[in-house]
Amino acid sequence: TFKAIVIDKTDSGQSVALKDFDEKDFMDGDVTVRVEYSTINYKDGLAITGKAPVVRRFPMIAGVDFSGTVEQSSHPGWKPGDKVICNGWGMGETHLGAYAEKARVKGDWLVQLPATISARDAMAIGTAGYTAMLSVMALENAGVTPDKGPVVVTGAAGGVGSVAVAILATLGYQVVASTGRVQEADYLKGLGAAEIIDRKELSGPAKPLARERFAGGIDSVGSTTLANVLSMTRYGGSVAACGLAAGMDLPASVAPFILRGVSLLGIDSVMCPLPKRQEAWKRLETDLDRQKLAAMTTEIGLAQVIETAPSILGGGVRGRIVVNIQ
Ligand code: NAP
Repeated sequence: TFKAIVIDKTDSGQSVALKDFDEKDFMDGDVTVRVEYSTINYKDGLAITGKAPVVRRFPMIAGVDFSGTVEQSSHPGWKPGDKVICNGWGMGETHLGAYAEKARVKGDWLVQLPATISARDAMAIGTAGYTAMLSVMALENAGVTPDKGPVVVTGAAGGVGSVAVAILATLGYQVVASTGRVQEADYLKGLGAAEIIDRKELSGPAKPLARERFAGGIDSVGSTTLANVLSMTRYGGSVAACGLAAGMDLPASVAPFILRGVSLLGIDSVMCPLPKRQEAWKRLETDLDRQKLAAMTTEIGLAQVIETAPSILGGGVRGRIVVNIQ
């Protein structure tokens, strides 16, 4: 057996506990990994509290991402000792997840840990940081280059937001960080934000079109915030939508699309194909300043996950939380 955070369904709702899990109850997979680090993402908060139906199978080991070392493999691409990263693919939702000393997964899901990224840093980045990288890549592909003008990041003091601010600044973008925690202005400037705006500027009902302020945006908030960002995006600009921290709705109009040629770019990290994942992790090696990553990261142990995870839902977590499993 090994230690794991197990979510179960009971008559009175959902229970969560750190307990022993038997390897014979593993689900199908061709690679067994000794998990070294995991993280707390927004989705982990939803799963552990049961606030959204993230978990589709019970009992479930929570946790959507891990880094670790291969112990056993019948997959041709992996052998014992290989250092790997796994995130998404239904882990912690439909497949037993990452908050455990061991995980059995499909070899096809794994990405090799980049040579210059430690297992700990990989999870300091985690799903949130890799999603920020996917968002930056989407903006680049859409032609949003640093010379086009400022780029706004919403939910800037959160996990996706902090990593997005740091990457964009390193790449030379002028970053406007939108936050509800203006007391974190120095933190955000330290990550490279050029300007801090109060999230209230973006959270009211959106006009179809507003003054053109941003060449692009990375939005982890959704709802009226995304609608406002779209209405403030300059002619020909693009916005990457990757989150729903304020809601899943999008009370917007088509005006930015049909009158300003604005594009809305959808970002999904969970089923993202392997080549794009590999590209994102490669880019993270060079484009994310490790000192900035350290400045946004706090560490907890497996035993603290259950008490810590709910705080991410209220926007109470700054930057990233890495979970030291062993
Ligand atoms: P997080 O650390 O909690 O960051 C979210 C941030 O949004 C908060 O820190 C807060 O930033 C802001 N926020 C929270 N509640 C808000 C509200 N009611 N109104 C306006 N702003 C609010 O979470 P995360 O792990 O970075 O994830 C961020 C979002 O991205 C989540 O919705 C998550 O589900 C999504 N996500 C999606 C993917 C994907 O594949 N598409 C992958 C990872 C994450 P401030 O305090 O700075 O305002």
